[in-house]
Amino acid sequence: MTETQRFPTSNGMKTTTEQKVVTRFAPSPTGFLSLGNYRTALFNFLYAKQHNGKFILRIEDTDKERNKKEYERDIIESFEWLSLPFNEFYRQSERTDIYKTYLQKLVDEDKAYISKEEKEGGRSEVIRFRNQGSTVVFNDIIRGEISFDTKELGDFVIAKSMEEPVFHFSVVVDDFEMGITHIIRGEDHISNTPRHILIQEAIGAPRPQYAHLPLILASDRSKLSKRNGAISIKESRERGYTPEAIINYLALLGWNPGTEQEIFSIESLIQQFSLEKIQKGGAVFNEEKLNWTNKEYIRALPKEKLMNAIEERMSKTGKFTGISRESLILLTPLITERIEKFEDITDMAEKGELDWFFEEPQYIFPESLVWKKGSSRDEAKKHLQALSEILSTLSLEEFTVEKIESIILPYADKEGKGNVLWPMRFALSGKEKSPDPFTLACVLGKEKTLTRLKKAANRL
Ligand code: GLU
Repeated sequence: MTETQRFPTSNGMKTTTEQKVVTRFAPSPTGFLSLGNYRTALFNFLYAKQHNGKFILRIEDTDKERNKKEYERDIIESFEWLSLPFNEFYRQSERTDIYKTYLQKLVDEDKAYISKEEKEGGRSEVIRFRNQGSTVVFNDIIRGEISFDTKELGDFVIAKSMEEPVFHFSVVVDDFEMGITHIIRGEDHISNTPRHILIQEAIGAPRPQYAHLPLILASDRSKLSKRNGAISIKESRERGYTPEAIINYLALLGWNPGTEQEIFSIESLIQQFSLEKIQKGGAVFNEEKLNWTNKEYIRALPKEKLMNAIEERMSKTGKFTGISRESLILLTPLITERIEKFEDITDMAEKGELDWFFEEPQYIFPESLVWKKGSSRDEAKKHLQALSEILSTLSLEEFTVEKIESIILPYADKEGKGNVLWPMRFALSGKEKSPDPFTLACVLGKEKTLTRLKKAANRL
């Protein structure tokens, strides 16, 4: 594909000159960066990278009452955590002089005027745009042609004073000054676009391409909000999602590669992403799918990284501080099988699901060792004794899940699986719910396994 073919203009014609793609993500720091907002950033990033272009992060911090530095920090930290580099960084609060120059120019040219108005608190001045009320037509890459009658907008306000432009004005000036070629943003901004186009024309800015992304919906198709499952990047990090899984999941939220592929590295996203394949309809946020994706990434983590993440979570619970390296090596595959995100380790620990490894069971109610469906205490005792005899024939090297299983199964098949395997599992874990008995024996090792089997038999 040649450069010129890549850039259809808003009227559907091809440009004849080469143009470098410049995109931007323009969050207002009024809350923690949400996954949904981050999807907008990701699409802008992918599109720019794909075209060897530039991706800009612009903090829209002009609303003094609602902005917080804490939220700006959160945005930057989120970008760092997700390893999404931007090429340039701006803050609108540092650009007042630039907006003022443009405002003054519009006033001088009589394209805008200062209007003295009665307000609740007395008289005040605002700057209004002299709107001719034409019909604005623009092409949206995702939604096709959109037409707006701008008459009803009237002479809309573009600044509260020469020092205080409103959002519509600063956005247009910045997009022009920064050479933005593609505006990729949420669908909630469609209704702002006609105003933006009128201001662009007035300041003599070229019209960028527009791509308005579908909203993200909750499972009941209502707008996703804090109340029904929207989570921030910060929370997703705390819950133990991996950055790669977040990016992979969000890329598929509204974009469809047109194949069955579900796992994408950032490199393959840069290659395959296309604005044309973004759906028009709302994209439903599916936490199960996010969890599934995360599990795939957790499983693929290098062993060392995985162990460190598990150790960190286990120590945080306060129950298992200072876990030995050997224990970690044994527990890692077992925990990895059972979690979708690292936070699940906290749940497992809180429910006592890992206690069996760290504490010897007490069998306070020895009846629990008996298979409920028709076995007796004597029988359970007999099986536990038989199991210790069988297992004592294995050497330390042979104490693997496969070997243990292969030596015990013939006995269990003969005596009834439940009759044998239930007491074995309970003897080793002291829990009704735990991993299978062969895994338990292997993870505990020969010595602990035999001690627990004998102790349990003695309690019957
Ligand atoms: N600051 C706006 C917002 O947070 C984005 C403006 C835009 O993308 O044009 O919704």
